[in-house]
Amino acid sequence: MEFYWTEAQIRKVGTAGTAAMVERWKSLSSGNLGVEIPIILASRYSSKNLTIAQRPGQVNVTEFLLCEDRPTLAVLLEEFGKRGPVFDEVLFTHELAHRIVSLDGFSAIGTADTQWHLAGGALYSLAQHSPILTLQRTNGIDGRPIFDKRASEIIRGYVEQVGLCGIYNVGADAITIADDILHASPELSEQLINRVLPAVPQIRTIAEEVVDCAKNYDLLDPDENLLFLRDAVQRIAPAVAWVEASGADAVKMEVAGLIDTQNLEGEPRSEIDDGDDEDDSK
Ligand SMILES: [Zn+2]
Repeated sequence: MEFYWTEAQIRKVGTAGTAAMVERWKSLSSGNLGVEIPIILASRYSSKNLTIAQRPGQVNVTEFLLCEDRPTLAVLLEEFGKRGPVFDEVLFTHELAHRIVSLDGFSAIGTADTQWHLAGGALYSLAQHSPILTLQRTNGIDGRPIFDKRASEIIRGYVEQVGLCGIYNVGADAITIADDILHASPELSEQLINRVLPAVPQIRTIAEEVVDCAKNYDLLDPDENLLFLRDAVQRIAPAVAWVEASGADAVKMEVAGLIDTQNLEGEPRSEIDDGDDEDDSK
């Protein structure tokens, strides 16, 4: 890791909300994992897993890695370091919140099926977004602009006919649009429903199924969140083998792999995708 910000540097530029979320992570990691895991902020290009060849497009994600021989949670952002270190508080707390929510009782779902792997990651991510927006709001941070930005890009792509999302497959694209229908501002959601979906029938079927399914559950409740995930995967891909894990177990496996394998910085560590390594800013 060539260049990164430490927690002290992050606190210096972040609001009290950021500081509170950093503390929340540290207390949850200490309680769940038996070790307090520090946080750093770095460019996504500092990860060996996230080269342009491996992950084209904009990538914002978190990874566990060894930093000065300590297991560390690295928040890896696309823009950080591109034109000097820029602190994007909304994006930083969004990515951090995925890990907080995982340790706070929410479950993960995923599959090794090649056709549905990306979609599974996107669905897991989608299910966490309601608790994440609430957590950010509680800490005085409005997380919605991330969804509005992506929804606007999807709508613009449709209007200009340059293609829809374009870098995934049907399942992952559909879940990405469903995610924005559920979490972007109402006027953008409406445009996705009324202008974009009618033009893409295959995507429409899956997206509408997921949006409809989400309305039956309180996604802020960890138990109902898992029931949503189970229901959604049965609706969209019943023949696929889906694997469940508690979010805490998924994180534990990642961290254990890190400690056991020493110096494998940048190696993949989890079967369950955290769902956040897709195109842009989620
Ligand atoms: Zn996300």
